[in-house]
Order: sequence, then C-alpha cells, then structure tokens
Amino acid sequence: MEDFTEERQSGPRKGNGLFARKKFEKGDVVLHEKPLVCCQFAYNEDCGYRACEYCLSPLETAQENAQRLSGIPALALPHPELDPVNPKNFQSCPGCAVMYCSVSCMDEAARRYHRTLCHNPHDPAHPLNILRNAWKEIHFPPESFNIMIMAKVAAMYQQADAKDREELLRTLNRFESDAVNADEGIAHKVLGEQFKVQLDAMRVLLASAFKDEAIKSWWSASNFLSLFAIFARNAQGIGTSSFGMWQKNVNHLPNADKETTELITAVYVAIEDRTGEEFMDNEGSALFVRQRACNHSCQPNTQVNFLSNDFTLTLTATQPINPGDEIVISYLSECQLERSRHSRQKVLREHYLFHCTCPKCQAESSQADVTSGEDEWEDEDDEEAMEEGG
Ligand SMILES: [Zn+2]
Ligand SMILES: [Zn+2]
Ligand SMILES: [Zn+2]
Repeated sequence: MEDFTEERQSGPRKGNGLFARKKFEKGDVVLHEKPLVCCQFAYNEDCGYRACEYCLSPLETAQENAQRLSGIPALALPHPELDPVNPKNFQSCPGCAVMYCSVSCMDEAARRYHRTLCHNPHDPAHPLNILRNAWKEIHFPPESFNIMIMAKVAAMYQQADAKDREELLRTLNRFESDAVNADEGIAHKVLGEQFKVQLDAMRVLLASAFKDEAIKSWWSASNFLSLFAIFARNAQGIGTSSFGMWQKNVNHLPNADKETTELITAVYVAIEDRTGEEFMDNEGSALFVRQRACNHSCQPNTQVNFLSNDFTLTLTATQPINPGDEIVISYLSECQLERSRHSRQKVLREHYLFHCTCPKCQAESSQADVTSGEDEWEDEDDEEAMEEGG
C-alpha cells in the first residue's frame, strides 16, 4: 500500500508528528505497517496463549482457542471454514521447537535474530532463560512488555553485517529514549530511582547473554537505560485471537443462524466467568517506526487495529481527515480514555512523559484535579505491575 502520510515537525515543543498527504474518509486505512521487532508477553505465553514466535498470529484453531478459554473441552464451533488458522502450515524450529505459523515466518526469524537466540528453553543455566525468569519475577500481568524483545534487538544487531548494524542503530535512534523529559521535569514511572535495582539486574543479565565485542557498549548503565526507555515509552501493544477472528467472520455472513449467535454469546459468558474477557488475546508488543511519530490525543482521529490477526498494524480513520491534518492516535486504552482528565493525564505523564493539551483536555480544563475512587484502584494496580525490592 502506498504511504500517504508524512513525518514532520508538529510544533515547537512536541517534536515530530505524522500528517496526512491526502483526504481520508471515516473507515479508510491511513497506514499499514509491519514492526521492527515484536515479542509476545512472557506470562501470556506461559499461560498457554499459543502464537507464532515471529508474527504473533494464533497457533490454535478458533475451536481450540474457545475450548481452552471457556474451559469446555467438548465445545464444537460450527462453520470451520471461517476459522482463520490452518495448522497444516505450522512449523517448529528444528533447534529449539519454538513454533511458527509458516515456513516464511520461521525463515525470517532465523535470518533476522533466531540463529543467535535459538537455545534449549528447559536449560535452567542458560543466560536467556535466567533473564526471562528474572523478568517474570519483577513484571506481573497486566503486562506492558517482555524483556526478551530487548534480547531480540540485541540478537538482530549481533547477526547483522556492518551496514545493517548501522541502519538498525539509526532506526533505534529515531525512537524517544529519554528516561526523563527535562523540559517538563517529568520522570518515567519505571525508569526512576524506584526500580533502579531491578533494572540493573536486567542490564547485568543481558550483558551476560550478549558478550560479543561489538555489542558490549550497549550494556553500559546509560546506554542500557536509553534502550530500555525506547521499549517502555514506544512499544505498541498487540492482541490476536483466532476465536475473535472466527466470530468476526461469522458476523459477516449474510444470514448467520440463531444457534450460532446464541453459541457465541454462551462462549463469551463462559470465558468471562473463567478468564475474563480482558485476557482473551495472545498479547505482545512491538516497535513501529512510522507509527511511533503519531502524537497522542484523547480525541484521536484514527484507531490502531490488527486486522490481519498478526503483528501488522493498521491505522483506520475514525473521522474524515484532510490533507495536512495531523494524524493522532490514543496512547490510552479505551477504558482509560473514558476517565477524568486528571486520570488520563496521570497515565500520560508517568508513562509517556508529557502533559496532554489536546482539545478534549482543554475543554475539560475546569474539571477538579481529583481521581475518582475507581481511578485510585487502577493506580494501585499499575504500581504492582513492577514490584519493588528484589
Ligand atoms: Zn507467523
Ligand atoms: Zn530455535
Ligand atoms: Zn488529552
């Protein structure tokens, strides 16, 4: 797809933004992009959410997925022809048995990073297993990223030739990497003093897993912090689901029968009771070079989607966009977006280091600076996401 967006300075204080080069109607695809690097979350993977190691596309059929999530092993879904997943194409790495949705994903992963990362996942003494387990001890669900995404980037660098290494560094340098916004005097929530000990432990473990001379400088205290900040500040969450995709396909049938509709409702009720609908998806995060330029608005004009049920990001217009308009997305989840201005700004400050001055925040500027009771619960939740001490 031709790119009809352009990146340029969006104002004296905001840095770059992404702008439309043509008119988009509501529902139009504004941007279509594959990530620089992508990685499934650690708890998500260990809890049985099976996804392609490279592209995060589901490795369960819709029926298997619905059976596992609902806890009903005998569940049978009609319309198997609408199942997006074809197990015949699955491949496993001959070295470590990690699974891919296709030969092309396996080959691409090997070419880019997996030759370096391929290891026995059951060897407790392997540095990458130690790193992964140590990360799980400090970062609990709801997950925001997996330390193994940093290992992937390090492996990409180690495997690349001199020219590609330079290119990778140039690309990484385009992402926000400051742990602190000096202009505004805001420090990132997980990059401050509070988590110093845990972050340093991650740095030491990565240094022991990647010892090549060429990459040694990555593990100095300041370089490591910049690299960590790239993921903490820029990683975009991804969710894929074979049952969700099957259900969408059913919805597009010209006349879906009543039994199927009722079955879908019943499956959702069972999932809600057992795992909660918020834990339906295979989840991970990724870095997108183009989308990283999109600024936030609490009233965005585009929506981030993963329409092909893998790591390919689509920005879809949620209202008409004119040539020259800035393309803005929401960095907040849908439920965070519905909260008070004060609550939204707290999350944006602590995780993205800026003070939001979008039209919605301006219109609500007379609102009192208080968090509601519900918001305080949420605050406690995300403090638990990175555990103090060690
Ligand atoms: Zn794949
Ligand atoms: Zn392998
Ligand atoms: Zn705002």
